[in-house]
Amino acid sequence: MGAFPHVLIIGGGVIGTSIACHLAVQGAPITLVEAKDLASGSSGACDGLVFLQSKKPGVHLQMAMESLKRFRTLQKHLPVSMEFIQTGGLVTIETDDEYRAMNAYVKDQQAIGLDVHLLDKEQVLQREPGLSGRVIGAAYSPLDAKINPINLTLGFALAARNHGARILTRTPVTELMVKNNRVTGILTPRGPIPADLVVNAAGAAAGNVARMAGIEMPVIPRRGQIAVTHAGSPVLHHCLISAGYIAAKYNPELARTAGQGISMEQTENGNLLLGSTREFAGFDTGNTLSAIRKIIAQAAARLPALASFQIIRTFAGLRPWTPDGLPILGPVSKLDGFVMAAGHEGDGIALSAITGELMADALLDRKPAIPLDRFSPDRFEDLAPDPAFRTDHENRQPAPQSSPQVPPQVGFQADPRPARQERIQ
Ligand SMILES: Cc1cc2nc3c(=O)[nH]c(=O)nc-3n(C[C@H](O)[C@H](O)[C@H](O)COP(=O)(O)OP(=O)(O)OC[C@H]3O[C@@H](n4cnc5c(N)ncnc54)[C@H](O)[C@@H]3O)c2cc1C
Repeated sequence: MGAFPHVLIIGGGVIGTSIACHLAVQGAPITLVEAKDLASGSSGACDGLVFLQSKKPGVHLQMAMESLKRFRTLQKHLPVSMEFIQTGGLVTIETDDEYRAMNAYVKDQQAIGLDVHLLDKEQVLQREPGLSGRVIGAAYSPLDAKINPINLTLGFALAARNHGARILTRTPVTELMVKNNRVTGILTPRGPIPADLVVNAAGAAAGNVARMAGIEMPVIPRRGQIAVTHAGSPVLHHCLISAGYIAAKYNPELARTAGQGISMEQTENGNLLLGSTREFAGFDTGNTLSAIRKIIAQAAARLPALASFQIIRTFAGLRPWTPDGLPILGPVSKLDGFVMAAGHEGDGIALSAITGELMADALLDRKPAIPLDRFSPDRFEDLAPDPAFRTDHENRQPAPQSSPQVPPQVGFQADPRPARQERIQ
């Protein structure tokens, strides 16, 4: 091994590319493989809210606050405009019950140091005059922001490539190579790629990738459907979610039905993103008529100006959900060299900057700014293996190659370059 391990990252979403970027800037040799295209998963089928208020008070909110700090200076490292704007965010309240719940929630967030407070109806309508009178108040934080998630992902990837990372799209991982209980690389239709460390950043498919090595990781796809309007003049000045949306995020009972609460965002371009559902529908990324109708009805009831907007398309993405609502980050004790970086559910865009930094530090044996213990994959180590999984993964080596080899420069093991000490600040 050279000064740095050769790190192979599976997944070209915002998490994989952020890790690649943070590692490459420090001089580590990186290969990132993506089954389809960059941002073809959830990172290209989502809103772009960097919403602090929607994070649970605790380590989740702490991560989001640290990530936000990094977004403020990240642009100078990315060759693509990430369209980061701190618009401030509103969590709208429509019932007395919601008011009571939000009051307590806001107090918990304030105790952690978040700049957030409750507004009455008049104050909300001053800030957002287009909202209908059904709103009775809102929680407001000036820190909440929006970003272009596709540009962000591409920006991380290009920055990584500019620092020497190899990025292979249309390269699905089909198997993990394992020898003496250590991951030694991956197999792809283009051939094997050896590596010192393999990072599983496969988003909602991270459970499937872990299963290639006989390891169970409870990452489940949770579908979110979104309706997009044409680009119109500004009608919404803040990032906005309804209090019911937060409740649906953390309440599995509410998650069983489509269209709970609402989130609305007007992009820099003027398109409105209206969403979104939280459904367990396997890997189905289809849109359903019932959900889209519900979303549009709920959005129009809150923002009457929407009546003159056209819906130009709909899409759905798969959030990588975990049972305890926290991402799974760090080495898997059961298998040397295998590292998880998945499970950000509805927060992967917002948490991408801090996740990339923490993972890079952990992979390079440096002390991360936030300890990763709470996110350790080992918290799920008692999960039973899926009986459908073949148990012959141990000592699996690349099959004799009949398919074309990955270009030789991809499969290097040691980095001849001197260690760099740069970091993204
Ligand atoms: C409707 C909706 C709205 C959302 N809104 C927000 C929001 O406002 N703010 C926010 O912070 N988050 C939001 N999210 C969540 C956010 O999109 C995700 O948390 C984030 O994109 C996850 O990033 P990822 O890199 O882990 O996964 P992905 O972006 O899904 O990337 C994983 C990649 O791995 C690849 N892959 C899978 N298997 C393999 C394999 N075998 N070999 C090679 N590659 C493989 C996939 O093709 C994919 O490109 C939203 C999500 C949805 C669905």
